[in-house]
Amino acid sequence: MIVVLAGASGFPPVRALARRAGLRCVPDSADAPHRLALVGALSSAARDELAAALEARPDVTDVIRDPGSAPLASRHFRPEPSVVPVGPLSIGGGAPVLAAGPCAVESREQLMAVAEAAVRVGAGLLRGGAFKPRTSPYAFQGLGPEGLRLLAEARQQTGLPVATEVLAAEQVDLVAEVADLLQIGARNMQNYALLAAVGAAGKPVLLKRGLGATLDEWLMAAEYLLATGATGVVLCERGLRHFDPQTRNILDLAGALAVKSLTHLPVIADPSHATGRRDLVAPMALAALAAGLDGVIVEVHPDPDRALSDGAQSIDLGGLADLAQRAAAMGVSFATPSVGRPSASVEGWGR
Ligand code: PEP
Ligand code: MN
Repeated sequence: MIVVLAGASGFPPVRALARRAGLRCVPDSADAPHRLALVGALSSAARDELAAALEARPDVTDVIRDPGSAPLASRHFRPEPSVVPVGPLSIGGGAPVLAAGPCAVESREQLMAVAEAAVRVGAGLLRGGAFKPRTSPYAFQGLGPEGLRLLAEARQQTGLPVATEVLAAEQVDLVAEVADLLQIGARNMQNYALLAAVGAAGKPVLLKRGLGATLDEWLMAAEYLLATGATGVVLCERGLRHFDPQTRNILDLAGALAVKSLTHLPVIADPSHATGRRDLVAPMALAALAAGLDGVIVEVHPDPDRALSDGAQSIDLGGLADLAQRAAAMGVSFATPSVGRPSASVEGWGR
């Protein structure tokens, strides 16, 4: 349940009541708590008793008994959009973000070409896979630790924060050393042990929607991350399984907007995986921006026909510049990192 306080002084006594009932009490702000999420398992009778006790208190102005199955992610807990800090970039609540990068990091030349192009066109985030979840065991699985090292180098060269995927709980520490934003892929959206391990890294997370996940399932996956320590979650609509092989998936823009009305978390779209076709990436990215999402993430390769993964849906460097120009013509100005190029050494990353 969510408790709305009359003033911050109500926090300690409400927390004490919640703890006595075996619930965790999460404030919306450490300095000035106004809304408290009381989370944990409780019988319906015990829930009703606790709610009645809270409603009777003069320091409580409202009790939302049923905020849904993902209270921390819900608008009941945070009515305003949340801003997720990702290194020097902020995602959500303002200008949309353009995230760009290769599906898989393949080489220094490939990654640097894309990273430099991304920063040139005003992208705010570099995304590239070092560990790749591939359907075939024979497909390119990513460069692994060397890919992470190259991502760290690209960040140092461009100043762009980096998003990269983590596939397994044992990899979290290694990937979190480099990633500004830890990506959970669509296939792992309901891998709850992985969600808990990634949450415990205490970083922001990019959570792809599962191939056939409902909005509630997606939000509950986000809830796992928030409940276990993630500093923020960015939801990414990446297309749902459907029946027509002409497009790889179907971009559920309506669902992406619907989920935004339920959650304070930022929601971005991935038109590359959603369509599987490079000719559809820019138009669908522009559609997502026109719809008011918090950003788009696109796969970019200097020579898509030679890509080791997802070449068919990767735009080239010219295509990225064209997308940025068309977005600007629509009046979109993208969020960019707020500080200059970092000077931290990358020696030792992933080695
Ligand atoms: C990816 O981002 O390259 C990827 C594998 O995406 P998804 O998990 O959405 O399929
Ligand atoms: Mn991909």
